[in-house]
Amino acid sequence: MQRKHLNAGPVAGVFYCPGTEDPISFIPRNRIQVAVLGATGAVGQTFVRLLADHPWFELNEVAASERSVGRLYGDVAQWIEGELPPHVAALPVLPCDPSIVSAPIIFSALDAAAAGEIEARFARAGRLVFSNAKNSRMEPDVPLLIPEINAGQLAALPTQRKRMGWPGAGAIITNANCATTAAVIPLAPLHAAFGIEQVFVATMQAVSGAGYPGVPSLDILGNVIPYIGEEEEKIERELPKMLGRWNGSTIVPAMIGVSAHANRVPVEHGHTVCLSIKFREPVAVAAARDVLDAWRGDAASRGLPSSLDQPLVVTDMPNRPQPRRDVGFGRGMGVTVGRLRADPLWDLRLVALTHNVVRGAAGGSIFNAELLVASGELGAA
Ligand code: NAP
Repeated sequence: MQRKHLNAGPVAGVFYCPGTEDPISFIPRNRIQVAVLGATGAVGQTFVRLLADHPWFELNEVAASERSVGRLYGDVAQWIEGELPPHVAALPVLPCDPSIVSAPIIFSALDAAAAGEIEARFARAGRLVFSNAKNSRMEPDVPLLIPEINAGQLAALPTQRKRMGWPGAGAIITNANCATTAAVIPLAPLHAAFGIEQVFVATMQAVSGAGYPGVPSLDILGNVIPYIGEEEEKIERELPKMLGRWNGSTIVPAMIGVSAHANRVPVEHGHTVCLSIKFREPVAVAAARDVLDAWRGDAASRGLPSSLDQPLVVTDMPNRPQPRRDVGFGRGMGVTVGRLRADPLWDLRLVALTHNVVRGAAGGSIFNAELLVASGELGAA
């Protein structure tokens, strides 16, 4: 990604102190208008909550299905957590139509059944769309973005715009499935350091991952459901793409074999993943630990409002991470890794936890949008 230096002038970009590699976050002169599609659902509400006091973005448009359109947001959203910002409660719910919703940045928390067509319509209208749905994730020129690990995938955007005929800044940038996000963050530095050949993933996924109202209480209380529709397939294909690279015409997935088991458990927020890893060559636990401890993510991801100084922490407590105790780490943007140990069949085992609706969905999308703004993408409009 192109870097801009502090003395480069007042244009959007990640600025670096002259003569150093220390990034300084760029602060736009005016807050940028953003809209949330699917604003009434579990992820949509998290967008509303996280955007309430965002230093760069201002939320003044919310949209959802015909069921909600024309009513006040505060009347239709079954508000789940924290305080509903009063100015958002008073907004009318708009239809998901780019001739009515005017913001240049669109956060989409749409159900997959609706997302494909609607998100494309917004991109065709020149908007930057940050999608949480599965529909576009596996397109070869659509970034499946996590700023700390694969900011280089943004180089695919000109090709995407050309292929789709989208004008200006029009583009779709996606988030991974929330369980994949929990797995890929610790895997990325290990893959960069040692080269991963195969990964086995077993998930324990929170009920908020199923949206609102989600899984019936009689199905999940005191129970474990060893099936989440399409989840295993998503993890198995998204993980290699996220660790892949743009080669000038396509995002080439990393050559990593993935086997996933997905389970729904009676936890409110926080997806836990148990990973067993086979490297190309044997790797000692201590060497893997050193890599994870030192990891701070790609320099492009630093200095943004959602950046963490340390996006991943390794705990030595033998009974952690736990959703109840660790899901809030880094305002829900951090990943907690524990139980780092040798694997008797392969090389390494670990457990990772992240907040599925924050880091795995709304918070991840907002972070992605910050990266795009900082890299000058909005200026392409
Ligand atoms: P949800 O609670 O069921 O919310 C779905 C939203 O989509 C609601 O706002 C709904 O509006 C809207 N919608 C449904 N059909 C529509 C249509 N035809 N036109 C316009 N709007 C429509 O789901 P969620 O959990 O928030 O998930 C949203 C998306 O994020 C999904 O694609 C999901 O796979 C993905 N995701 C979720 C998580 C998670 O942890 N929950 C994590 C990562 C990704 P109404 O209220 O008006 O019906």
